Amino acid sequence: MKLKIYRYNEEIDSPHYDTFELEPSSGMTVLEALFQIQKQFDDSLAFHYSCRGAVCGTCAMLINKVPRLACRTQVVPLLKGELKINLVPYPAIEEVTVTWNPEEEILVEPLSHLPVIKDLIVNMSTFFKYYKFIEPVFKPSLPSSEKERLMEPDALPELELYTNCILCAACFGACPIDGKNPEYLGPAALAKLYRFHIDPRESKGNKRLELANIPNGWWACEFYGNCTRVCPKGVPPTIAIAKARKELDNKGKSQED
Ligand code: SF4
Repeated sequence: MKLKIYRYNEEIDSPHYDTFELEPSSGMTVLEALFQIQKQFDDSLAFHYSCRGAVCGTCAMLINKVPRLACRTQVVPLLKGELKINLVPYPAIEEVTVTWNPEEEILVEPLSHLPVIKDLIVNMSTFFKYYKFIEPVFKPSLPSSEKERLMEPDALPELELYTNCILCAACFGACPIDGKNPEYLGPAALAKLYRFHIDPRESKGNKRLELANIPNGWWACEFYGNCTRVCPKGVPPTIAIAKARKELDNKGKSQED
């Protein structure tokens, strides 16, 4: 198999693609293939990773034009076309400047909508700026206790859905709105904000929604659903956004009455 990899080093070169040939093996992941390339062919190849177990969210990148975690994307099923995800076109797909044969080659590029630092490493500052904006810390309604803060078990399944986010930014990279509106808070930040809104132990629950009640918050989403399709943890930002909007709408109506 061949891996066609986006290369960029501001100091020495303009963006281009390098192709490397490797023997695929059963269970081999894209991350392992990148390590092999570093070891065998080019130790200057730059990419981010940490846990190698789909927990830290560090190795998200575009693999065959879909944002995925390199550590959990296996090369053999990819080449067999078994991992297809149909996405609504977004800038990285629309502005295709490279061709590749998905049956023989794997295209690896940096996550879209974020500036490239080197090769497959992007600057995540914008993503985390929006994450910080939604104040992602628990603000309890009761004073701290030595025991756990208990809640009804019924509230847990929905809460857990959004707590599972690992901040990989795959959703951010796949979102057509993030691609055209750099001020949009993005799916991950909004999903996390909703998570705090529905937490029954929170004191700010009712005020949380207001934080993103702005044109570039809840209301900027156009429900393309790419975020939910690519999320490696099954987080559904579109559902959170739809529910938040409905609540705000209902609130607005009740204030009018
Ligand atoms: Fe990654 Fe999913 Fe969280 Fe988006 S919502 S940052 S895709 S884990």
